[in-house]
Amino acid sequence: MSEQKAQVKRISAAKTMKKIMAEHFHRVDEASRDPGKKVAWCTSVGPAELLQGFGFEVYYPENHAAMLGATRKATDYIPYANAAGYSPDICSYLTADVGAYLQGYTPLQDAYGIQSVPKPDVLVYNTNQCRDVQDWFMWYGRHWNVPCLGIETHRNVGPVSEAHVDSITRQLQHLAEQLEPIAGHKLDMDLFRQSVGLSRRCSELWEQVLLTGSARPSALTFFDGTIHMGPAVVLRGLPVAVEYYQQLLAELQQRVESGEGAIEGERHRLYWEGMPVWGRLRALGELFLSLRTCVVASTYCNSWIFNQLDPDDPFRSMARAYTELFIVRSDPVKEDYIADMCQRYQVDGIVYHDAKTCPNNTNSRYAMPQRLEQRTGKPYLILSGDLNDLRCWSDEQARTSIEAFVEQLEQG
Ligand code: SF4
Repeated sequence: MSEQKAQVKRISAAKTMKKIMAEHFHRVDEASRDPGKKVAWCTSVGPAELLQGFGFEVYYPENHAAMLGATRKATDYIPYANAAGYSPDICSYLTADVGAYLQGYTPLQDAYGIQSVPKPDVLVYNTNQCRDVQDWFMWYGRHWNVPCLGIETHRNVGPVSEAHVDSITRQLQHLAEQLEPIAGHKLDMDLFRQSVGLSRRCSELWEQVLLTGSARPSALTFFDGTIHMGPAVVLRGLPVAVEYYQQLLAELQQRVESGEGAIEGERHRLYWEGMPVWGRLRALGELFLSLRTCVVASTYCNSWIFNQLDPDDPFRSMARAYTELFIVRSDPVKEDYIADMCQRYQVDGIVYHDAKTCPNNTNSRYAMPQRLEQRTGKPYLILSGDLNDLRCWSDEQARTSIEAFVEQLEQG
């Protein structure tokens, strides 16, 4: 390509994000050492709002595991979990996180000077994403002899029925009863409603942020999204996340108004389906940039939009929000969703990441790409890799496949 080398566009709000994420980790770390405070671990699409309603400081191990991936440490620690009996074929978030713990390492040391992950008073999972989170939390539950509680969700859900929502609502209510003796007090309904309301607001703003990707040129890339989704995952339910996304949205809307794209001279637009490759975010971002191709939207970043949340009906709306989630749904529902996203974001093609250790967030193994190509006319590319285990990833193969795919788009 003869054009000048394109530059990565920085997002100014990133400074604020770094600050609020650092404050979050310090707050949880301090709470874990304060006998007057309680810490709960929660899965990334678990019942965070309920835990906040009890006043727990909430910590999210998946975010920690993604940090291990993004800092390219995960592959070093996975073998230690394998040696403890956790297969190399299961979730590499789990194996990287447990392996790092067994070796006394956390990326929080380098990033924030925090020596260890915070010891929880309770671990709370939701199997809506996978069973691995339950096994992961149970390992720590046994290790520290602390309770491990959870919601067992329906899987492969087609249309979400009232029966689905009823059963999850009852589980959430039961969970609240189980949490009382651990928190040492009853659920504060006002705090719970407030958390649900703030989480809803955070979701709405995050959705607006992602929608700036539908502009031509797109105001952000998938790779920006994977970084800026941090507060939507770990700070939802708190005012600071709402303030953050107001700031980020204003900056991106400004880009849209002035016609400034995240990728200068945007030529092609793609959809990313599946997990990020955390250890290759930068390299992939730069590769797509050099090809003037913008990955404008993804299932992954959109997974933290919970617009069903309603502070007037906190239990039931939480049950609905965490059951309508993409990852829990049947293939026909997923296909409708992706087809709709392709149209909304006007993409030219779809990239599927087949993540070796996460079948739950991999949708390319049962002919979905072929069905969607037939339905939408959009070509697809399948990249074999993994979210955290870089032994499953080949830079050369990925580069060759992506370049060939973009060339195919040029000709199409
Ligand atoms: S959804 Fe995939 S990456 Fe996430 S915890 Fe489950 S197996 Fe791991």
